[in-house]
Amino acid sequence: MTPTNSLPSLDVSELERQLSSSDVGQALHQLMTRLYPICRSITGNGVRETLSILQESIPLTVHEVPSGTEVFDWTVPKEWNIRDAYIKNSKGEKVVDFKNCNLHVLNYSVPIHQTVSLDELRPHLFTLPDYPEWIPYRTSYYKENWGFCLSHNQYLSLQDDSYEVYIDSSLEDGHLTYGEYYIPGESREEVLISCHTCHPSLVNDNLSGISIAVFLAQQLSQRPPHYSYRFLFIPGTIGSITWLALNEAKVANIKHGLVLTCIGDSGKFTYKKSRRGETTIDQIAAYVLEQSGHPFEITDFIPYGYDERQYCSPGFNLAVGCMMRSPHATFPEYHTSADNLQFVTPENLATSFSVCATVLQVLDQDRIYLNQNPKCEPRLGKRGLYRNVAGQAEAQLNEMALLWVLNLSDGSYSLLDIAQRSQLPFDTIKQAADALLQVGLLVEV
Ligand code: ZN
Repeated sequence: MTPTNSLPSLDVSELERQLSSSDVGQALHQLMTRLYPICRSITGNGVRETLSILQESIPLTVHEVPSGTEVFDWTVPKEWNIRDAYIKNSKGEKVVDFKNCNLHVLNYSVPIHQTVSLDELRPHLFTLPDYPEWIPYRTSYYKENWGFCLSHNQYLSLQDDSYEVYIDSSLEDGHLTYGEYYIPGESREEVLISCHTCHPSLVNDNLSGISIAVFLAQQLSQRPPHYSYRFLFIPGTIGSITWLALNEAKVANIKHGLVLTCIGDSGKFTYKKSRRGETTIDQIAAYVLEQSGHPFEITDFIPYGYDERQYCSPGFNLAVGCMMRSPHATFPEYHTSADNLQFVTPENLATSFSVCATVLQVLDQDRIYLNQNPKCEPRLGKRGLYRNVAGQAEAQLNEMALLWVLNLSDGSYSLLDIAQRSQLPFDTIKQAADALLQVGLLVEV
């Protein structure tokens, strides 16, 4: 349960203590359990209900963008809402019922109420023959259609009969709803954390990213961070396009970012690099994963996946990577009813939270300094640093950290560069830099 042993060599002791003292995995899972039954989509009341639950934890602002708003090459769609849906056989028995599982309805189905034969019904039914117990998740956002998703076993049990199909939905002019939480830091430079909120009862794919983002925001808001942080809870694709189109003036402040998705399963970590591929967030994500001791893979950017596609489109080209466990479509539970609350465990959530929190901690503390006494080594003893060091158990380590920081702080190496080159923990390098800063031997570039 506790992630205490998850990042041994990084020595992020304070964070580790916080994580072990609070049962973060259980708390993340409880939030997902509350959000799980809600029928979300790219618009509609399911998103509003989701965001209002998140507002109990973080003071996010809910934005409403009217249908028809032009956003670059796209248009904000009509708003979809659903109240009920079922298929009844001629005996009046519900053979498929939206109230049992919201995946049963093709997401964005237009309303319908008519009686049809099984042959007329079949083109509107979606199943997974390879996983006959599971219900698939299907959408039809941009082509008006109606349909039902059901297990293949349910499908096979349908008799030749007449069926009443009923979908009590609406597709009308309304709004696209998204949530935004901005945490001002010491710097106006921003870190963007983005997750999608548009999937109904799917856990790894949307709820894991949402929950971890909420907990990261809570943690960051406890004291002013160095960077400012912008959290976006948005529908996939159309949400990031909408935000970028309506907030283009803010984009220049975004210096780093992460998309969080599919981050609660038991698979190895996968970090997908930004399009630029050599940015600070790419370096830090790789470093933290290496240090974590957990299996991981770093993949290059491809223009497919989640909202990093929009943030990394050539007109923006932001330093935004994507942190996942198993990438989309690589696990059979993906976009099915098996992506459920059992598939994502508190233990895996806690580990993922720990990794993400550590990435942000290193990012927030990483700096480039300039040694103010670059001609030969300064005398540490007369500044009280040598004596302090000598009294400590790990004197040799810390002294080495002081020497490394002094030697490499020529304005071109960051603290993380120094940690990697010296093979000393980032925290040790950071402590040495803080001590040198206090006695005026370093200034920030
Ligand atoms: Zn998805």
